[in-house]
Amino acid sequence: MPYPLQNRPADLRESMYFPEILRGIGTVTKHFLKNLFFSRDANPDILARKRGGFGYSDNVTLQYPEERAPYPPGYRGLHRLVPREDGRARCVACYMCATACPAQCIYIEAGEYADDPVEKYPVKFVIDELRCIVCGFCVEACPKDAIRMDSGEHTPPSYERAAQVWDEKRLLRGPPVSYQYDPWLRRGSPSIAPEKLEEMRACAKPFPSVATDEASQTPGFSVRALAQEAKERGELAKR
Ligand code: SF4
Ligand code: SF4
Repeated sequence: MPYPLQNRPADLRESMYFPEILRGIGTVTKHFLKNLFFSRDANPDILARKRGGFGYSDNVTLQYPEERAPYPPGYRGLHRLVPREDGRARCVACYMCATACPAQCIYIEAGEYADDPVEKYPVKFVIDELRCIVCGFCVEACPKDAIRMDSGEHTPPSYERAAQVWDEKRLLRGPPVSYQYDPWLRRGSPSIAPEKLEEMRACAKPFPSVATDEASQTPGFSVRALAQEAKERGELAKR
């Protein structure tokens, strides 16, 4: 609906200018003082910061990159291929994500496990992050919950275009996921050791019916946090 214009003539107060100027100065001063002394950014990093200095003025500036604004839970970040508990990708190389991708930036080559010819897997799974328009269609199209954009990360910068082409080795990361109706769990698989198979069956969850199910999200998953944990583990091991 178009915004209705009010072309009415200025009333007496408006035509005198000064009352309106004073009203404007009052509004600006009110917001200035409120922001300066009485409000804080809701960012957890800012809330954890000690108040002090000049009045309560440490309220809005994020000290990037040490402090970062949290993304909302549905934020579509860098892709990842979801692993199973045995370390292999959940992906069965069905090409649905590549077919749905409007930017045609997913390239897949399918192969068969030598010890389990029923199941396919991606010999090659490549995403050109420079061409990706971050639409999330690939995640929606996947019948296996094998590709997600829940990393909470931007694609990291690089000096070369080739570095933005992510292959299956870089994409496969994050917490493993199993569902009760995964075919390799229901019929068993010669490629998975029996005790591992039992372990995977024990962790299997019901398949999420909608994308916002808790089971289809990985709250708190962050490649940066995982890297930090790995670094800390390495430092602990050195001591
Ligand atoms: S987010 Fe969209 S453009 Fe990017 S890979 Fe997935 S389907 Fe393609
Ligand atoms: S990521 Fe999902 S949609 Fe894409 S090929 Fe693998 S199983 Fe199919």
